[in-house]
Amino acid sequence: MASFQAPKGTFDVLPEQEAARAAVLAYTERVVGLAGYGRIETPMFEDTALFARGVGEATDIVRKEMFTFEDGGGRSITLRPEGTAPVCRAYLEHGMHRLAQPVKLWYAGSFFRYERPQEGRYRQFNQIGAEAIGSGSPLLDAEVVILLDGILRGLGIDRLKLKLSSLGSTAARMAYRDELREYLRAHESDLSEEVRARIDLNPMRAFDSDHERTRGVMAGAPTLLERLEGEDAEHFAEVRALLDAAGVAYELDPTLVRGLDYYNRTLFEFDCDRLGAQSGVGGGGRYDGLIEMLGGPATPAIGWAAGIERILLAMEAPQPQGSVEAFIVSAEQRERAFALVLELRAAGIGADLDLAGRSFKGQMKQADRSGARAAVILEADGTAKLRDMGSGEQREVDPARIVDEIRAAS
Ligand code: ATP
Ligand code: MG
Repeated sequence: MASFQAPKGTFDVLPEQEAARAAVLAYTERVVGLAGYGRIETPMFEDTALFARGVGEATDIVRKEMFTFEDGGGRSITLRPEGTAPVCRAYLEHGMHRLAQPVKLWYAGSFFRYERPQEGRYRQFNQIGAEAIGSGSPLLDAEVVILLDGILRGLGIDRLKLKLSSLGSTAARMAYRDELREYLRAHESDLSEEVRARIDLNPMRAFDSDHERTRGVMAGAPTLLERLEGEDAEHFAEVRALLDAAGVAYELDPTLVRGLDYYNRTLFEFDCDRLGAQSGVGGGGRYDGLIEMLGGPATPAIGWAAGIERILLAMEAPQPQGSVEAFIVSAEQRERAFALVLELRAAGIGADLDLAGRSFKGQMKQADRSGARAAVILEADGTAKLRDMGSGEQREVDPARIVDEIRAAS
């Protein structure tokens, strides 16, 4: 037992786990890159006020999940719990509202939430995300949904469900919230204490409750989707038609609520039933009011975020890819083996050799364990053999042409 362990809710990523992560990032970059998204990196921490304002004081994230502390200068700092508010801050700070709109950005990195740790739920976790800022077109809603759908499916995640809803305009949502509050008050005695306590603050979260009688009440509650009208209804109909045309299947879920306060109109979430309790793989929505709330000009925008750890859990046993292609086995000629390893690496071929003083037999075993496709056996008499580790086939090769031989074999 080690004296120190990673803090509760955090984890180490070990070398054999990195390949799958790198594959998720590379695939994401390719898919969003084809649609014109450029990568952005923002700091791991921000002024607390950015999240209080940008995520919403009434949200669980701000009320109980933030890692907030005072820095040496007495400023209140928060480890970023999500990426949208920081990206919007950066958009304004760097005058991106003066660029051609929309500005399309994607990100990947660590996020921090003080939550009860369990499988798929950590205190430091990683997300990929995309934000398209500066257009209210329903084409953009469809684009971002299709991108996340393509990434998740392209990574081999099946048993996915896309839940889709619309929150309408802020005004419609406010009117609806009043209606919902009244409905909740009329059924107050059947509601869980938590939901009752939040009737004023955040009545929509009542749809999220797992309290049985509350769920019963909510089954009969009015939904925002039923109240959509005018341009909000048209916008949603267009988004749906575009998704239908693209062959992206979805389920309408009028009870969809997400943990961030700034959403309006389109809202979506991908669930994977491979994941058990933490079934949400990723989601997002439109946040046309956020940039203005952060002090910028009125700017429509939409985005999503997906959890990398949940993606990995949902992917079917990703194959770790060994990056060592050739393992050099030699009886006595360590310097010659080392020189060959360096030559191979310089030629862009992953190569390694025994560094633990193993016997010839031990080195062959190590070659196998390394995942290398080929072993080069340097004999004491100066000759060399190339062994295909898959088939076990072995043949003599010209010692001066080993790099070419390995390249030809791959
Ligand atoms: P949940 O309902 O599971 O708490 P959320 O609505 O809080 O998710 P978002 O804020 O939308 O999640 O974050 C987007 C994605 O990030 C989630 O779908 C999930 O894959 C991932 N995620 C969120 N919180 C965590 C966490 N604590 N640990 C690991 N992944 C997380
Ligand atoms: Mg959450």
